[in-house]
Amino acid sequence: MKSHYRVVVIGGGIVGTSVLYHLAKFGWPDVCLIERKVLTAGSSWHAAGGVHALNADPNIAALQGYTIDLLSEIEKESGQSIGMHMTGGMTLASTPERWEWLQSAYRVFQTIGIEDCRLISAEEAAALNPLMNPEGVQGALWADREGYVDTTGTVHAYAGAAKKRGATVIENNRVLELHEFPDGWQVVTEKGIITCEHVVNAAGLWAKQVGRMAGIELPVSPLNHHYLITDTIPEVAALDEELPMIMDPEGFTYMRQDQKGMLLGIYEADHDHWMMDGAPWDYGFELQQEDIGRIENELLKGFERYPCLNDVGIKTWVNGAFTFSPDGNPLVGPVRGKRNYWCACAVMAGFLQGGGVGKSLAEWIIHGEPEADIFGMDVARYGDYAQNKRYIKETTGQFYSRRFVMSYPNEQLPAGRPARMAPSYSDMTAAGCRWGVSYGLEVPLYFAPQGFEEAPTLKRSNAFDIVGAECRATRDAAGLIDISGYSRFEISGPNAEAWLDHLLACKLPPAGRAKLAPMLSPEGKLKGDLTVFNWGDGTWWLMGSYYLREWHMRWFTDHMVDGITVRDIGDDTVGFSIAGPKSLAILQSLTDGPIAELPLMGCGTFDIGLTRARVGRLSVTGERGYEIHCSAADHIALRRALLRAGADHGLREVGFNAVLSMRLEKSFGIWSAEFTQGYTAGQTGLDRWIAWDKGDFIGRDAALTERGGPGPAQVLATLEVGAVDADCSGYEPVWQGGERVGFVTSGGYGHSIGKSLAMAMIDRDKAAEGTELTVHVVGVERPATVIAPSPYDPSGKAMRA
Ligand SMILES: Cc1cc2nc3c(=O)[nH]c(=O)nc-3n(C[C@H](O)[C@H](O)[C@H](O)COP(=O)(O)OP(=O)(O)OC[C@H]3O[C@@H](n4cnc5c(N)ncnc54)[C@H](O)[C@@H]3O)c2cc1C
Repeated sequence: MKSHYRVVVIGGGIVGTSVLYHLAKFGWPDVCLIERKVLTAGSSWHAAGGVHALNADPNIAALQGYTIDLLSEIEKESGQSIGMHMTGGMTLASTPERWEWLQSAYRVFQTIGIEDCRLISAEEAAALNPLMNPEGVQGALWADREGYVDTTGTVHAYAGAAKKRGATVIENNRVLELHEFPDGWQVVTEKGIITCEHVVNAAGLWAKQVGRMAGIELPVSPLNHHYLITDTIPEVAALDEELPMIMDPEGFTYMRQDQKGMLLGIYEADHDHWMMDGAPWDYGFELQQEDIGRIENELLKGFERYPCLNDVGIKTWVNGAFTFSPDGNPLVGPVRGKRNYWCACAVMAGFLQGGGVGKSLAEWIIHGEPEADIFGMDVARYGDYAQNKRYIKETTGQFYSRRFVMSYPNEQLPAGRPARMAPSYSDMTAAGCRWGVSYGLEVPLYFAPQGFEEAPTLKRSNAFDIVGAECRATRDAAGLIDISGYSRFEISGPNAEAWLDHLLACKLPPAGRAKLAPMLSPEGKLKGDLTVFNWGDGTWWLMGSYYLREWHMRWFTDHMVDGITVRDIGDDTVGFSIAGPKSLAILQSLTDGPIAELPLMGCGTFDIGLTRARVGRLSVTGERGYEIHCSAADHIALRRALLRAGADHGLREVGFNAVLSMRLEKSFGIWSAEFTQGYTAGQTGLDRWIAWDKGDFIGRDAALTERGGPGPAQVLATLEVGAVDADCSGYEPVWQGGERVGFVTSGGYGHSIGKSLAMAMIDRDKAAEGTELTVHVVGVERPATVIAPSPYDPSGKAMRA
């Protein structure tokens, strides 16, 4: 053991060894993995070893695909057998809703380039796996790239391949403490002290404790999980070929062949947390006693699906723990304020995600950014609110229990809610507000009459007309929306202007003005679609998506200089937006200030009723609109004053579902759909806000190179979709004559223009107005036509009025 390495990876499970391998592979061999006991001594040794490429999050599905393709490579490189059985596998649909969902998901997989899957009938499924009782099965999604590996062999293969590239593995050496110092980290181990530039927490079941060693409280918890392995099944022994795997979501089980028997895994509703503060240090190759009573209901379904189980003995029970984050996705990446401390934790499916996690993290450590957009597993998608133990327990438990339960895009899940509420929450609830959640905060979706229940669906829901009425009220008179769920950062200090000028790609607005502000990475990828406000008193604001608060704060912290203060004021400052042709008249009745003189994108301080507020004239609805920001203590009074003043003007309180419909009618892009860290400014049209003539800013060289090049292969376009009872939601493939020419970034119904709309990233030569295309909507191919951007009020008259 040397006393210094460039990187120390803590944890010798599937994730730690993959990180080690990728660091060495990408050119950093001076890396060392430290393992408490021996490799695999966490949850890795007792995993079922199943792998498959399909995942509901397309970016994560792509990384799972990468992992599977990598497996045979590391086997070859290391010379260590990983016992790979690529049997193929299928996901069953036993309800019409699941079948609809699978047909829809199949199209999304086409979008992301997973070509080796296809829809099959119940008969074909039963022929492929004759152990299965096909009763109730409506169809299935088959995938070639499904199978399983020998878990211990695979961990050793990653480690072996890493060692061949110069990396070091040290076993039987627990990390006891971590100390941050200016050039990196001091790692105190049982065998001595090591210093390093970077430290990686890949401690699996012990991730919580290794986080606490650095003062970090990670939102992660272990839960117990069962599978059983049977004795030899005569029908299996008689087969010439290995059986394909089956995932049976409605049956809450997954199965694969194990030697001449079967492995059956269970995801039960009655979940069981285990050691929420992390596994004991002396825990190793033990398992928990099986708890058949707790999994009985699901087990019975398994026995119905595979009747041969009734006639065969059970050879082995496994009840072991592995870790979950609140949404079930890994927690990967750097932690704000902890320089060069990296997470590779909460990897629920290490054998199918570990490769992608290792690749992304190694790229991040070495190059400063991962190649793919992996926001879905970025540790910064959670903030301080997610450190709460009860929140972690409720959300991880909910995820586990619903692992095989279908989720609908319009469904609201109860765990960990309501936790954070704007002050008007109760008043708004009394007014019929139905809530969604963003970054722990309750945000308004729409306002419905008492007793209304929205039915979960993949199609247009029964809230369709309610949202339509909110859109029309805004366009005809005015809509009021609680915008506490926008992020707000205050930047001040002598260097504030220079810092912002370097951070943002736009020209900074003069005093009393706001501006749309793309923020780029050095590689020219998007880091934000922010709005910058110059309040004229030495303070500036940046506003953006609420759920990116921690993500953006980490970026600001990483680029901090002397002479500025950046404060996240998102908890203290809340507000309302009022938009629509009557918005000015309503505000005028509440202020003596020159509100009528505020130009589009102007901003200033006004007294609105009894509230001293900061007001900006802008709105994503495409109407004349104002964003009114106030302290949390003023929120209730401000809302009441606005509603009172608006009563005679037809003001209606609306939610974000209406706002999203209206922004689509204006072809205004939003983050996570049209704008992501995977795209450049040129691809998304955000380059029109870049100030090419100003001095240097982050990403300038890359943006200039893009500008001087042949142009992006794909561009954003607006589509009118011949939809019937459902609208696009995102990632549906767009076709022309059977050729895939792009995919939908977001979609919905334009209630004021009465059309189904989508925004799509499509091949540049297919983006001309009038081009006839098709698009899959919930699995059904529909006609689509490229239309000019902003089908509502294309000249922007309403906004400028
Ligand atoms: C019953 C069951 C079935 C499963 N089936 C599958 C499946 O089919 N497919 C799949 O992909 N996944 C499956 N999983 C999940 C899989 O096991 C995990 O995703 C994976 O093991 C996580 O790996 P890891 O490296 O993050 O953590 P771990 O395997 O827990 O590794 C962490 C390592 O860190 C070491 N460590 C911790 N603290 C320290 C310290 N202070 N100093 C030094 N070393 C330390 C530990 O000793 C341990 O070896 C299953 C899990 C269970 C329980």
